Amino acid sequence: MSTTTANELYPEVRSFLESGPLKGFVGGKELESTGGETFTTSDPGSGAQLAEVYSFQASDIDQAVDVADEAFKTAGWEQLPQNERSALLHRLADAVEKQKHIIAQLESLDAGKIEAQAQGDVQNFVDTIRYFADLAQNVQRRSILAVKNHEAWTMRQPWGACGFIFPWNFPFLLVGWGIAPALAAGNTVVIKPAEDTPLSTLYLARVAQEVGIPDGVINVVPGLGSVAGAALSANPKLQRMSFTGSPEVGRLIAESCGRNLVPVKLELGGKGAAVVFNDVDIPDTAEKLVNAITFHTGQVCCDATRWLIHKNIYDEFVGECIDRLKDVQVGYQLNDTSQMGPVVNAKQHQRVLSYLEKGQSEGAECLLEGGVAEVPGYEGYYVKPALMAGSLDNVAAREEIFGPVAYLAPFETEEQAIQMTNSTDYGLANSVWSSDLNRAARVAEVMCAGNSWINAHNVFAHGIPYAGIHKSGMGGGVLSIETLLDYWRSVSVVRPL
Ligand code: NAP
Ligand code: MG
Repeated sequence: MSTTTANELYPEVRSFLESGPLKGFVGGKELESTGGETFTTSDPGSGAQLAEVYSFQASDIDQAVDVADEAFKTAGWEQLPQNERSALLHRLADAVEKQKHIIAQLESLDAGKIEAQAQGDVQNFVDTIRYFADLAQNVQRRSILAVKNHEAWTMRQPWGACGFIFPWNFPFLLVGWGIAPALAAGNTVVIKPAEDTPLSTLYLARVAQEVGIPDGVINVVPGLGSVAGAALSANPKLQRMSFTGSPEVGRLIAESCGRNLVPVKLELGGKGAAVVFNDVDIPDTAEKLVNAITFHTGQVCCDATRWLIHKNIYDEFVGECIDRLKDVQVGYQLNDTSQMGPVVNAKQHQRVLSYLEKGQSEGAECLLEGGVAEVPGYEGYYVKPALMAGSLDNVAAREEIFGPVAYLAPFETEEQAIQMTNSTDYGLANSVWSSDLNRAARVAEVMCAGNSWINAHNVFAHGIPYAGIHKSGMGGGVLSIETLLDYWRSVSVVRPL
C-alpha cells in the first residue's frame, strides 16, 4: 500500500510494507490467520493505510502457544549453556542495531512517533537485550543450602512458554523490556503486539530468525485484543503472562490468568505528579516538564500529568510553561522540524479532546487551551498541548488522559504536596523538584508509587527496577535483576543425611 510519504521511505521499509498482507511468525515460519482474516495498520500522521496484517484467531493463538511450548522442550534453547544463549542474544542486538534506521522508520510511521525518538527506542531495545544477556551470565543458578542433617540446594529453572501483550505507545522498546529477561533466562515467548502498531515486532521476528535464534523461541501473533489477546491470556499452556496496557484490560488479563493459576505481571497506566518547590530554577524546571508532557505527545504511562507548584512561584512557573508550550512544533513525525507528532488513532484523538471539555465542564480553568492542531498537508490526529488548573477532584486531574495535557494546582506546605500527590488510585511514577536535596529525598520516599524521581521525570536506566503499584500494576522490577529472577522459578533439591 502507498503512503503520502512513500518517496522518502527507505527501500527496505517500502518493500516490507509492500510484502503485505503481513503474516505472523510462529515456529520460525510466516503464518497466515486460519480464515485469512486481516486488519489494517495506518499512519496516524497522514491517515494513510500502511499495510494489511493477518489477524490471528483463537485457534491460531493456541497453535502458537503449542509451538512455543514444544520449542521450550525440544529446540535446545533452555539447554544451551548460558554464555551461548547470551551470545545469540548479542547477535540479535547487533542485527537490530545495524537495522536501526529501518525499524525506527517503521515504528515512526506506524505509531506516529517522531523519527529521532523512534531511533532512541530501538537503541533502548538493543541496550536492554545486551543488559539482560550479560546479567544472566552473572547469576548463580544453583545455591547450596547449609541446613543441618540435609544435603540441599536450590536451582533456578526457566518456566517455559511465556505470553506477552503490548500497547501501542512504545511498541518496540517495550518488547525489549518484556522479552529480554525471559529469553535470557531460557524461556520461549509468544508476543501479541497492539493492532495499531504491529510492524516493528513483525520485522523483529524475521531478524531473530536470520541471526539463528532457534525456531519457536520468538513467536509473534498479530491480531485484535478482544480475539488474539484474550485467547493468549486464557491459554493454560502458558507458564507466565506479562501485560502492558490499561488497567481495564489488565484486570481482564489477571482474571484469565487467575483461572489457570498462571503468574502474571501487569504494567498499567498512571497519573503521576511533579511536585515543584519554590527553590527550583524556574525556567529550567519548566523546560523539563514541558519536554516530559510533550514527549511522544503525552502518550507516556509514567508521565507527570499533575503539576503541583508551590504557591509563591505558581504564576511565574505557569507563564514559563505557556511560553514554551506555545512554541512546540506540532507536525508530521518524519519531518525533521516536528517536535510533537500525532496521537495514535481517532479514538485517542477524541479521548484527549473530550477530557478538555469534561474538565472544563466540571470547573477546571484552561490556562492554555489545546484542542485540534492543523498540520497543513496531513490529515492526521494532531492536538495542541494544553494546561488546565483547579481542584484535584476534577475528572481531568483524576483520570489518565494519555495526551499532552497537564493539570496544575498550587500547594503551600510539604505535607500538603505529599497528600495531593498521593490522592490517586494510580501508583506509577512521581517526581519532586527542589534544590534542597534532603527535602527532595524525604518527599521522594513517601510518594506512593513504584518510582520516585528527583529533579527529573521519565528516568530509566538498566539496573534500576521500574514498577507500578495499586492501579498501575504489579510484579514490576522491570529493567533490573528483579525481573530476570522472575523468569526463573526456584526449585529445591534435598537429601536427608
Ligand atoms: P489497552 O487498550 O489496554 O491495550 C493493550 C494491549 O491489550 C493491546 O495489545 C490490546 O490489543 C490488548 N487488548 C485489548 N483488549 C484485550 C482483551 N480483552 N484481552 C487481551 N488483550 C486485550 O492499552 P493501550 O490503549 O494500547 O495503551 C495505553 C495504556 O497502556 C495506558 O493506560 C498506559 O498508561 C499503559 N501503559 C503502561 C506502561 C507501563 O509500563 N506501566 C507502558 C506503556 C503503556 P489491541 O490494541 O490490538 O486491540
Ligand atoms: Mg499504525
